[in-house]
Amino acid sequence: MEIGRVVRANSNIYTVDSAGREYQCKPRGRFRVEGQRVMVGDLVRITVISDREGVIEDILPRRTCLDRPQIANVDQAVVVFTASTPPLDLQLVDRFLVVAQRAGLTPVLCLNKIDQLDPEDCDRILAPYRRAGFTAVGVSARLEMGLIDLGAALRDHISVFAGLSGVGKSSLANALLPGVQLRTGEVSARIGRGRHTTRTVQLLALPGGGFIADTPGFTSLELTGMTRVEVKRLYPEFAGLEAGCRFANCLHWREPACAVKAAYEAGEIDAGRYERYVAILEEVAANERRY
Ligand code: GDP
Ligand code: ZN
Repeated sequence: MEIGRVVRANSNIYTVDSAGREYQCKPRGRFRVEGQRVMVGDLVRITVISDREGVIEDILPRRTCLDRPQIANVDQAVVVFTASTPPLDLQLVDRFLVVAQRAGLTPVLCLNKIDQLDPEDCDRILAPYRRAGFTAVGVSARLEMGLIDLGAALRDHISVFAGLSGVGKSSLANALLPGVQLRTGEVSARIGRGRHTTRTVQLLALPGGGFIADTPGFTSLELTGMTRVEVKRLYPEFAGLEAGCRFANCLHWREPACAVKAAYEAGEIDAGRYERYVAILEEVAANERRY
């Protein structure tokens, strides 16, 4: 038996990538009895029955499970943004980071279109995120800059792209995947549009190992159902400081003797990140009151 990754689904036929070879596989009959469903992204055990065909015997346990789009085992979200077209919106970037981490994904920040930016500006934008502990790369899909760094961040992971329409998600996928040509705008076009929702997701194999999904990772940036404590935990730059807060459950917001707020006032943590955190917290607090 071999182990492979389900990269595509077409009714009840699943394409499984095993060591770079693709097998068209049907699941064993008992899957229907047990109510189990194979998902794109699943790691499966297959019996090979010909050089192109196999049978799925087992689904290995899932690490994560995205709902819309339905993909199993995604572990990274590449948050793509730009500082030109569309203009820089760090409030939105931080929101993407919160939503991605809440789904159990490790975010990778990707500032695209750096050909339209001074190198100092690129570093100025990314530095606070790097200091906080995130992986952040500046790239240009058009000029193929920074793609080695981005490729290294994606290696051996299953990643989804996230970001506004027009930031260059399709262009980046094309630049990373020789031989695959998604139309520009293609990765975005599916956000929230009815006529695209029936089309199933595909995983595209990266040359260095790992996969990217050809559909954006999330279609919603809603924070509903989230608590303030959950939000706070998604800010790695606070974690090392909060032992110094007076209250163990400090939200670093309106509490007295807060070490995070002190660090903010002393300029030791990035002011923008902290201020945008407070804005997100206020929104979540308003949502909490509604329930
Ligand atoms: P998506 O909607 O996120 O998939 O974005 P697309 O890949 O369709 O790109 C949107 C537009 O940005 C297209 O016109 C691309 O040619 C352009 N674009 C993508 N990457 C770059 C880049 O690195 N630099 C510049 N200047 N333009 C880019
Ligand atoms: Zn605090």
